[in-house]
Amino acid sequence: MKLMIYGIGKKELPVAREWAQNNHYQIEVTEQELTSETVDLAKGADAVSFQQMRPLKEEAIYQSLKENGVRYLSTRSAGIDGLNQNFLTKYQLKAANVPVYSPRAIAEYALTLTMMLLRNQPKLEKRRENGSFVLDGLIGREIHALTVGIVGTGHIGLATAELFHALGARVIGYDHYPKEEIETLTYYNNLEELIKEADVVSLHTPYFPENHHLMNEKMFSLMKSDAILINTARGPIVDTQALIHALQTGEIAGAALDTLENEERFVNKMADKRVADPHLEELLQMDNVIVSPHIAFYTLQASKKLMEASLKSLDEFLTTGRSASQIN
Ligand code: NAD
Repeated sequence: MKLMIYGIGKKELPVAREWAQNNHYQIEVTEQELTSETVDLAKGADAVSFQQMRPLKEEAIYQSLKENGVRYLSTRSAGIDGLNQNFLTKYQLKAANVPVYSPRAIAEYALTLTMMLLRNQPKLEKRRENGSFVLDGLIGREIHALTVGIVGTGHIGLATAELFHALGARVIGYDHYPKEEIETLTYYNNLEELIKEADVVSLHTPYFPENHHLMNEKMFSLMKSDAILINTARGPIVDTQALIHALQTGEIAGAALDTLENEERFVNKMADKRVADPHLEELLQMDNVIVSPHIAFYTLQASKKLMEASLKSLDEFLTTGRSASQIN
């Protein structure tokens, strides 16, 4: 049996090779992403593992996979918003994701971004670029003195709550389905109440249509004027235009965005002015904003787990026709 692995990094290659040897699979690999240009590399493979930097929107990719003999797909990511369910059905492709791999990877990054904003890192860097080492205007805030609002208390939200709790912050949370007996946070019954009280609002919900622009003009108007927003979840959960307005008018104090609407235009690429997003350009000019390229998941530990779990799903599909992480 042959597996095709797209988007493989240097650190993932030995993990994939070892797994394939232990499980008696032949593997082909490429550093390139799965696109309509690279889909024919999967010819002759029974199943495909890929890393999802931009959604697989084009029907031609699904059609070519089918024509090339591929039956099973596994995305090395937690989100399922990047796959088109209709095309999966139409071309009889079964797909899996990796629902949980390393919540700590994302939680630690949310904490990192929070600390960077609280200590005015983007402002400091802009000053340094201009040769200024003046302290005025750079006074920071300590985490133990703050209230952190966790929106979405699943695997990553709870891991994030644990970290902030350990540092002495007051942690409050909101989820449609609150968990029982959580010691690291206090649940609020509605999102608005949490937003009003939090000094840090950290988003950890998945993206689906109901969560489109969950953080919108109204929500920003409820936030404290010295509060900051951290988004390590998904770009479209935040209305970027409304966020820019809230930052410009001082409705909120700062934002750190590891995920951004339209990020497929620039994530994992060199900046290209012709395709760049006007929102991105505006955000990059601001000295109270951090933009990072959807990198929260990108740790040695997480990438190893992602690769192993993805290949295990393909093995399950090929041996039983089903996978425990099947999404369709
Ligand atoms: P999870 O399924 O364990 O938890 C999500 C939680 O959000 C659930 O408890 C759900 O009830 C809650 N929720 C959904 N909509 C809500 C809403 N409108 N208001 C309040 N709560 C809501 O998922 P997870 O493993 O914690 O991951 C969360 C998200 O993080 C993923 O879906 C993905 O989008 C994102 N993520 C980002 C990266 C990155 O690199 N930046 C990496 C992995 C995951």
